[in-house]
Amino acid sequence: MTVDTRVMSNPVEWLHAIRDGAEYWLPLLLCVLLLAMVYLLWRTIQLMPRVTPAKTETSTSRVTWSDVAGVEEAKEELREVSDFLRDPDRFERLGARVPKGILFYGPPGTGKTMLAKALANESGARFYSQSAAAFVEMFAGLGAARIRKLFDEARKHAPSIVFIDELDAVGAARTGHGFNREQDQTLNQLLVELDGFAPSDQVVVMAASNRLQDLDPALLRPGRFDRQVHVAPPDVAGREAILRVHTRGKPLAADVDLERVARQTSGLTGADLANVANEAAINAGRHELQHIRMSDFDVAMERVVAGLQQRKVVTEKEKRILAYHEAGHAVMSHLMGDTMPVQKATIVSRGQALGYTLNMPSEDRYMHTREELIDMMKIYLAGRAAEQIVFGRVTNGAANDLERVTELARSMVFEYGMSEGVVSRTMRADNYALSEETKRVRDSEQARLTDGAFQEALRLLSKHRAPLDRVAAALLEKETLLQEELEAILGDVEPESRASETVGVVRAMPRRAE
Ligand code: ADP
Ligand code: ZN
Repeated sequence: MTVDTRVMSNPVEWLHAIRDGAEYWLPLLLCVLLLAMVYLLWRTIQLMPRVTPAKTETSTSRVTWSDVAGVEEAKEELREVSDFLRDPDRFERLGARVPKGILFYGPPGTGKTMLAKALANESGARFYSQSAAAFVEMFAGLGAARIRKLFDEARKHAPSIVFIDELDAVGAARTGHGFNREQDQTLNQLLVELDGFAPSDQVVVMAASNRLQDLDPALLRPGRFDRQVHVAPPDVAGREAILRVHTRGKPLAADVDLERVARQTSGLTGADLANVANEAAINAGRHELQHIRMSDFDVAMERVVAGLQQRKVVTEKEKRILAYHEAGHAVMSHLMGDTMPVQKATIVSRGQALGYTLNMPSEDRYMHTREELIDMMKIYLAGRAAEQIVFGRVTNGAANDLERVTELARSMVFEYGMSEGVVSRTMRADNYALSEETKRVRDSEQARLTDGAFQEALRLLSKHRAPLDRVAAALLEKETLLQEELEAILGDVEPESRASETVGVVRAMPRRAE
């Protein structure tokens, strides 16, 4: 029997060969391994977020106050900070507590970064900017280290401004889930830095955030970001001013009407408008023209607006409805006396809300009578009532108002025992204890309150149709009306309610109608 031993011996021979040759290939293999390791190490270091000071833009960025338009209120707030950075002694001698942390909040593209840059530039301070997203790293402790470094650097080169963009990335309220230890460490380090420097450091910290409500309250305490500046999307005058900034030095044809462009771009931010101006120039260039024509702006608007489909851009017809809706809130607030005076009414869309009317109690009160609460319900329902009166039907734009009214009516019935006839058996919202009968009564009671308020709102606005028209027209023209402007329009209209003159016992109220 012959066995083919070659098959068996083959691997063995092979092994021998390997052993014999080891003195040649082993060093080679080691070399390759070493090289691979060096390469990997190098890659890791490269990929690792570097702990370096943020980029300084002092000399390169030349943003001036005049470059930022349509945000006059915000600029006004910063004027004082600028004075401080230029001449801190003047304030310290007076023992004034100087601003240290300023928080800009508002939608992206409204000029928050520009404002910070302009402030730095105009007050001769160095500008350090860093996005908070960069502080949130996968390596524990790195975010905190970056913050420490950033502030050290800023202190060393004072006067300086530290600008932290997208503060939400580290500053979101600690809600339990979705918040990791690294973020926590980073936030804590930021708080330490904010608390840690003296006025003499001449460092001002600024941050930008989209939503104030989402931020950790610890950030907003006195001595931290205790000054909050709202940077809202511009109204029609603001939009025109921004368009002027972005067409500065560009050759415009005689037919260009920037005011009309401003009118047709309700809801657009400064960044969007910069885009419109640029698109118009590009369009003119494409046609090899010497000047930018109005038709170029029309094309540009269409293009930019189309690119913003997810954002609400309001049509002329919607704008009219919106104007009457907000006018309804404003007129009703006026009619209700001092319960919830209007601070501002606007049809400039912002976030979810198309327009809104900001009501502020004239004093910070936590107690309201039943009558006052019903007046508030009328104010919340007045937007819908105005739509009903003027257009004969209501839109879905009042969803938020209805939520508030429902909540208010519910509280009145359940928590405050304010429903008529059932006061004796106050119906607290301990659901399990409620019988079917009680539930039915309280639901109908809630509905009765709401319906009653809506009918009153309809009656009062019909009675005061003329002032309603006046406010709506003013809103259509100016888009935003401040308290004084509203008072000028409504000054001769007598309030219909005196409920605010008496006080009962209830908790704080929501303040914004949409
Ligand atoms: P934010 O920080 O609020 O997101 P930016 O300040 O970064 O917005 O603005 C982005 C760009 O949009 C700016 O470079 C500028 O061209 C334009 N822009 C935004 N707001 C304004 C404004 N108020 N005035 C002029 N240009 C603006
Ligand atoms: Zn409303």
